[in-house]
Amino acid sequence: MSSLLPADGARLLIDGKLRQGGDGVFETANPATEEVVGLAANADAADMDAAITAARTAFDDTEWSRDHAFRARCLEQLRVALQGEVEALREITVTEAGAPVMLTKGPQLEGPIADLAFAAGLAENYEWETDLGVAEPMGIKTRRTLRREPVGVVGAIIPWNFPHQIGFAKLGPALAAGNTVVLKPAPDTPWCAAAVGAIIAEQTDIPPGVVNIVTSSDHALGARLSVDPRVDLISFTGSTQTGRLVMAAAAPTLKKTFLELGGKSAFIVLDDADIAGAVGVAAFSVCVHAGQGCALTTRLLVPRASYDEAVQVAAATMGRMKPGDPTDPGTVCGPLISRRQRDRVLGYLDTARAEGGRIVVGGGRPEGRERGWFVEPTLIADLPNTATVAREEIFGPVLVIIPHDGDEDAIRIANDSPYGLSGSVWGVDPERIRRVTEGVRTGTLSVNGGIWYSADAPFGGYKQSGIGREMGVAGFEEYLETKLIATAG
Ligand code: NAD
Repeated sequence: MSSLLPADGARLLIDGKLRQGGDGVFETANPATEEVVGLAANADAADMDAAITAARTAFDDTEWSRDHAFRARCLEQLRVALQGEVEALREITVTEAGAPVMLTKGPQLEGPIADLAFAAGLAENYEWETDLGVAEPMGIKTRRTLRREPVGVVGAIIPWNFPHQIGFAKLGPALAAGNTVVLKPAPDTPWCAAAVGAIIAEQTDIPPGVVNIVTSSDHALGARLSVDPRVDLISFTGSTQTGRLVMAAAAPTLKKTFLELGGKSAFIVLDDADIAGAVGVAAFSVCVHAGQGCALTTRLLVPRASYDEAVQVAAATMGRMKPGDPTDPGTVCGPLISRRQRDRVLGYLDTARAEGGRIVVGGGRPEGRERGWFVEPTLIADLPNTATVAREEIFGPVLVIIPHDGDEDAIRIANDSPYGLSGSVWGVDPERIRRVTEGVRTGTLSVNGGIWYSADAPFGGYKQSGIGREMGVAGFEEYLETKLIATAG
């Protein structure tokens, strides 16, 4: 048990107080060992109700939404406090999320903590008010002032794969904009959230009710946020399937829904690229965090003439990527989050076989790892883009390799997907690369290994990968309303 959390179980954060859950406790496990590592507070409906009430009151009855400088200071204070506890947070993240410790130096922990500085900067420096000047609509001389204001109470619902990255990418801008938040973490990673709750309560001046963290083993508690009329905006990250439920549940109260959903992104290798180099990168990247990344490129599209070579290179790379202990600094591919998720991935491998796919490497649980929810990095060849494993998000270390017949065909295949989250293009000719990046309909694209992830860069999906953008100024503005004041004279 971490020093941040009490020995008898982690706590909820409601109205500034760390408290036990109305439904007792539930267990949290280490995906690498399958061992229960401790207990988390199990909230009930009354706890969720109290959290929403607290957030509503903090928004309606305090100066939080108006005091930009105070918010900037609180966010900076939170960033420094989190940084001060980074080793305890790292231990929790590796233990509970099965995150390779290597990744906690970047997007699993330290990156998102540092990114809170961007949110704090926006609270301080954003142009909250714009003078649109004087006009005379309908003959009445009028000065128009555009004001940007927080939306209100934000219900933030997050998954388990990058709990801090996704958590802070919502908390940072939502708070910077002046909203109050009820955060509902995934049942698989309650400690990651509870530890942040303890830091907020004990080490920052963030006022009671501004951030509430409600852990629960029950997904239905998240659904309460979507339906409650006191919640003004739902910021959801998770599967497309759940995203649809959230949107439908939010419809009767017409609350704004901001959705970051699944993906089935394509890695396009053009025929003027260094084929082996590009394919090696594609094969490596799909193994990172055991493939549990929404934006990972899980379809590899290679020139038909180079298909056999590409299959060989990808297989050799993935064969070397042995799933390992996430506490080992050399591990890139750790365990999957849960037995359920592991079995789901193995089920997809059976489907690939049943549909005539060739498992070139991997295909099951790694030998010698009887404990832990590990799956071998797996390359699937000889299936068309219409196959189930090429269409559905697997969320495991699984790559499907598909031949293309030139740039236009590669664009067509990349876009032949219900998703549109991310992608990658490798080639030499700038004109061809430009044409491909214009043709592929996704929210982010990497060219020749460029990194799109950073605090000031908006991220999100086209099509069924989501609605809205997270991070960057665009991500911050998702949490704002626009008000126009028209003053005569
Ligand atoms: P999930 O959709 O099962 O759950 C996500 C969250 O929603 C959890 O907190 C869960 O408890 C909650 N939830 C479940 N049912 C709900 C309901 N009816 N109403 C409200 N909340 C509900 O997703 P997961 O399995 O935890 O995470 C993996 C998924 O997340 C993948 O599809 C992945 O692509 C996606 N993801 C997307 C992004 C992105 O930014 N686009 C980032 C990371 C993960």
